Amino acid sequence: MTQPLLIRNIRPMAGDSVDILIENGRIKRIASAIEAPGVQVEDGCGAIAIPGLVEAHTHLDKTLWGMPWHRHEQGKTLGSMIANERSLRRDLDMDPARQSARHVAMTMAKGTTAIRSHVDIDTDHELAMFDGVVATRQRYLDVIDIEIVAFPQSGMMIRPGTEALMDTALANGADVVGGLDPCGIDRDPKGHLDAVFALAEKHGKPIDIHLHEPGEMGAFSLEMILERTESMAMQGRVTVSHAFCLGMPDQARVQGLMEWIARLDVSLATTAPPSRPVPSVAACRDLGIAICAGSDGIRDTWTPYGNGDMLERAMLVGLRNNFRADEEVGWALETCTTQGARVMGLDGYGLIEGGSADLVLIDGLGLSDIVALRPERRLVVSKGRIVARNGVVETEYQPA
Ligand SMILES: [Zn+2]
Repeated sequence: MTQPLLIRNIRPMAGDSVDILIENGRIKRIASAIEAPGVQVEDGCGAIAIPGLVEAHTHLDKTLWGMPWHRHEQGKTLGSMIANERSLRRDLDMDPARQSARHVAMTMAKGTTAIRSHVDIDTDHELAMFDGVVATRQRYLDVIDIEIVAFPQSGMMIRPGTEALMDTALANGADVVGGLDPCGIDRDPKGHLDAVFALAEKHGKPIDIHLHEPGEMGAFSLEMILERTESMAMQGRVTVSHAFCLGMPDQARVQGLMEWIARLDVSLATTAPPSRPVPSVAACRDLGIAICAGSDGIRDTWTPYGNGDMLERAMLVGLRNNFRADEEVGWALETCTTQGARVMGLDGYGLIEGGSADLVLIDGLGLSDIVALRPERRLVVSKGRIVARNGVVETEYQPA
């Protein structure tokens, strides 16, 4: 049970000023000049209010946030970065519970109120990362939605024993079945995807597959994913992350795949990397395909980049898609808000009466202004509780 809260003078989605009354973690009323005697009052000072930001693709078990600077000297191939991380996890004392809590607090201070996190499961570390992230999810249960994807980062077919560990994780609280690069990593697309879809069927869970494979190889893997989605009636329950193949130059090929994706209600997740081709957000909108956004790894053994700010991710989505008009920048912001909520299936998302009281107050001239400048978050409310002020999480949510 949370204490009621009245926030005065805020502008939902940069519209007219209103007050918002919050009770029991929900938005009770949105109106001007609400009277609520005895209720705690926060002055919004005319700030813009947006719904809680949704981090729909990250890796809570990977960050080095709060640890000494790690000098990046790893190779650029996917295989070398994966092997490098597996060994560094031990060398660097990357406690998964501590690190995932630091990651959650860091991104919550910037307005994130829901996270889908892929969590590595491999035969070296078994379920250690999963157990650590589960502990963090439990710690922040009252203030943030954390969805855990059981993720075979090092491959399943090439590492016997991984599939059984995935099965155990799914039986013990993992929400989504992960997968990756059926050709590029496992070199056995049929084996990999049959295993992923079988785990999903056994546990009744959705799927989220990393697909970095470029061009025609990625298109081939994507077709195999779509075939299984259709034959196993997994419509609306499959996400393909990255899907760089949908950024390939052959537009006729891409259009055919996109129409198939739309028919099966498959979702896409993008990190909008400047260095890779990506699916077009505008094309997804035209076809009604859900496309959410995420930071991917943040300051981990793969990359020094990232800060958990989903407004910054919205800016990167906007830049990557050449969005300039206010309407288009709004689409970029939606990948980090409503589209993420759609992919995660968040209950009562949005600034509506009866909705979940997840909101972020930001000073700015309009939605494009806050995406372009990413000002410090004045106030972050999650599930009806104040969790951060002026870019700093409240004391009770500070990690070790
Ligand atoms: Zn990822």
